[in-house]
Amino acid sequence: MPLVVHKYGGTSVADAAKILSVARGIGKVRDSGVEVVTVVSAMGNTTDDLVRLAETISPDPDPREMDLLLSTGELVACTLMTMALRSLGYDAISLSGSQAGIHTDTVYGKARIDRIDTARLKKELAKGRVIVVAGFQGITADQDITTLGRGGSDTTAVALAAALGAERCEIYTDVEGIYSADPKLVPGARKLAEIGYREMLELASYGAKMHPRSIELGRYYNVPIYVSSSFSDASGTLIHQGPDEQPMENRVKIAGITCDTNVAKITVRSVSDRPGIAAALFEPLADAGMSVDTIVQNTSLDRTTDISFTVSRGDLPGALRQVEKVLETIGAPDVASDSTLASVSIIGSGMQNTPGYAARMFRILAEGNINIDMITTSEIRISCIVKEEQVEEAVRLLHRGFELEEAQ
Ligand code: ASP
Ligand code: MG
Repeated sequence: MPLVVHKYGGTSVADAAKILSVARGIGKVRDSGVEVVTVVSAMGNTTDDLVRLAETISPDPDPREMDLLLSTGELVACTLMTMALRSLGYDAISLSGSQAGIHTDTVYGKARIDRIDTARLKKELAKGRVIVVAGFQGITADQDITTLGRGGSDTTAVALAAALGAERCEIYTDVEGIYSADPKLVPGARKLAEIGYREMLELASYGAKMHPRSIELGRYYNVPIYVSSSFSDASGTLIHQGPDEQPMENRVKIAGITCDTNVAKITVRSVSDRPGIAAALFEPLADAGMSVDTIVQNTSLDRTTDISFTVSRGDLPGALRQVEKVLETIGAPDVASDSTLASVSIIGSGMQNTPGYAARMFRILAEGNINIDMITTSEIRISCIVKEEQVEEAVRLLHRGFELEEAQ
């Protein structure tokens, strides 16, 4: 019997009526002779509400307690979904992340999956049951509950699909698929019928609302991921070993434009220009599990230089603490930060070896009077850090400037 993994995001399970409607849909799939493992996110804004609640009690909640707290949102959703399935006459069982055998490392708040022990899952599938797994969580070797990071249920779903050898992973959300830009910002945005893992990874890492780690997993284990709406029957977007893994000329050059407002910049001034300084600055950040994105270091004129880099806003206080600890070692007088910035990115594997994209991007931004603070590129992406208040305009201008509305 074929097996698929479904994942439903918070808006798809926001209330009892939506849970019942999703359960009916899962039931139909089951009736067609397909085995289903379903992953659910917490209902609606539950996770945000829990974060706020914790912060009203403690400004700096203990990470272990925080993860155990946040894991409850998905437990509520998965038990209710199971009850809904059972009320419709389907044999179903809910499993927490740990019951589903999801073992993680010990980095609270952004734990990574080490392995999935599929014995229990297989046992339940063999009984003919629909399994509903609580997303975004797992368990450490010491039996502590961890969470995978905000939006992590996508990663739970793709990891389960990989571990169980599912045919594909279907992600149900409140939009119809992946677009050339956020349709809420750009009314003319095009829905993509398909996209390769590599482009999708860049889109997700730079603002499209999917957990980037789920795309990495999908690519590595070759799990096709189908993104579509739980509220409509419209066709969605298939993320797979697509055209960008087999480059062909004349294909779409730019897949999409994304923006990300979760950006903060740290600038360390007058760092001495000698070997080992960058390592001394970034090692403690890595050790603290913080990922650093755009890094800019100038060539020095007077044997000192400025180093700027970006982190997610949530990591800013922690990153500043780490940097302050090493200021003396790296001979820097001070550090400054700015959390009023955002990134805008153009992404497309067609940019590889094709000159002119960067210049065109900068010209479009210049004509919109948008100042560029920092620039980074990968083979298939160009990102500019700009003022947050200008970023939505930047997306619109670039979408128009690169003529993404028109069928290409
Ligand atoms: N409920 C978690 C969050 O809101 C995980 C998820 O939705 O995937 O971040
Ligand atoms: Mg969510």
